[in-house]
Amino acid sequence: MKQSKLFTKTQKDAPKDEVSLNAQLLIRAGFVDKLMAGVYTMLPLGLRVMKKIENIIREEMNGIGGQEILMPSLHPKENWTITGRWDTMDDLYKVKDSSDREMALGPTHEEIVVPLAHKFINSYKDLPFAVYQFQNKFRMELRSKSGVLRGREFIMKDLYSFHISEEDLNKYYESAKQAYFRIFEKAGLKDKTHLTFASGGSFSKYSHEFQTVTSAGEDIIYVCQKCNIAVNKEIIDETNKCPECDSSDFQEEKAIEVGNIFKLNTKFSVPFDLSVMDEKGEKKTVIMGCYGIGLGRLMGTVVEVHHDAKGMIWPEAVAPFKVHLISLGKNEEAEKIYAELQKNNIEVLFDDRDESAGKKFADADLIGIPYRVVVSGKSMQAGGVEVKKRNEEKSEIIEMTYLLQKLK
Ligand code: ATP
Ligand code: MG
Repeated sequence: MKQSKLFTKTQKDAPKDEVSLNAQLLIRAGFVDKLMAGVYTMLPLGLRVMKKIENIIREEMNGIGGQEILMPSLHPKENWTITGRWDTMDDLYKVKDSSDREMALGPTHEEIVVPLAHKFINSYKDLPFAVYQFQNKFRMELRSKSGVLRGREFIMKDLYSFHISEEDLNKYYESAKQAYFRIFEKAGLKDKTHLTFASGGSFSKYSHEFQTVTSAGEDIIYVCQKCNIAVNKEIIDETNKCPECDSSDFQEEKAIEVGNIFKLNTKFSVPFDLSVMDEKGEKKTVIMGCYGIGLGRLMGTVVEVHHDAKGMIWPEAVAPFKVHLISLGKNEEAEKIYAELQKNNIEVLFDDRDESAGKKFADADLIGIPYRVVVSGKSMQAGGVEVKKRNEEKSEIIEMTYLLQKLK
C-alpha cells in the first residue's frame, strides 16, 4: 500500500485524556482512533494487525477441532434470567426497544451457545464438539484507563466445548492449553507469558489464565522461579506454595491477562437442561469448557511489551506489513522495488510521500514495521538499498538482486 493514499496520518501527540502507553502509540501511529473511553475504531493499520491475530487464533482453534460460527450481539433478556445473570452481572449493558422489550448486549455467550447446542444434540454420539467465534463483546467496565487492554466494546475469540465426561473435557482442555501457548508464541509474547493458576474452576480448584508480564498489567501474579508457572495473587493460599512444583520461591510481577481457559462443568448446561442419552440410554448433563482471548487486548499487550522511545516494534507475525519501503527524493527505482515486492507477495507499505527524510524515518520508527528499506541516491551509489530491522541499530546496503532473497 502507498502511504500517500493512506487516509490516516501520524500524530505528534495522543489525546490528553489517554494515559495508557499502548493507546498513545496506537493512536499516534494511526492504528486506532478513540471514540470514547473504552471504545476504539480500528483504522487500516490497526485492522491489519487484528486480522493477523485473528488468523493465528483461527488456525489454532481449527486445529483443535473448533467450528467457527458467529452469534449475535443483541440477546433476549429471557436467556439471561434463566441463568440468573440478568441480575447478578454488574457489567451487563441492558437496552430497551420502543415497545419496552428488554435485551442485553452480549458480554459473553454461554447464554446463547448452550440453547443453540440444545437444538442440535441429543445423543452421546453428538459429543464432543466445540464452536468458536470472533465477536464484539460489550461490558460496562468501570476502569477504562488501559487503552485497548480494557474496552467497553471489544472483540473476543470465545470457544465453547461440550463433552460427555470429565475425562473428555480434561483431554480437550489440555489441547486448548497447548494451542494457547502456540498463539502467544506466534504473537511474540512467549518469554513473558506465564500459565497462571486462578480461581474459579468448577472441577478442580483452579482455572488457568495466560498472563503476560509488563508494568502496564492490572493483575499481580507470583511467578514460580523453579517451574515458571504463576499463581494469581487473588488466589494464592496460606501455604504460599506453587501448585505445580511445591516450591515457594516466587517473584511478584504485574501482568496482563491475555487469555483464559475455564472448566465450566455443568454450570450452564443445567439451567438450559442441556443433556444427552448415554450408551445405556441414561440422561447425562453435558459438561462444558470455555476459552477466551481478547484480540484488542492481545494487540495492546504486544505494544506494551515491544516498543522503545521512538515507537512500536512489531513481531513479524502480527505486523501490519513486513516491509516499510521509503524513497528519499524522486526516484523511479523505489517504484520498481515496490512493484517487485508486491509481485512476490511481500506485504509492503511504501512511503512515497513528499516529506523530509527525518519525518519519514520518525514515522517508520513510530509505526514499527519489522524491515525498513530505504532507496535513495546515496544508497544506490553504494550499490543498492539500505535495509534496517526495526529492532536493530545497524543497517546494511544490499544489492537489489539479494533484497528479495533476504525478505522471503
Ligand atoms: P478481566 O479480569 O481482565 O476483566 P475477565 O476475567 O473479565 O478479564 P473473561 O470474561 O474471561 O475476562 O474474558 C476472556 C478474555 O477476554 C480475557 O482473557 C481477555 O483477554 C479478554 N477481555 C476481557 N475483558 C476485556 C475487555 N474489557 N477488553 C478487552 N479484552 C477483554
Ligand atoms: Mg472482567
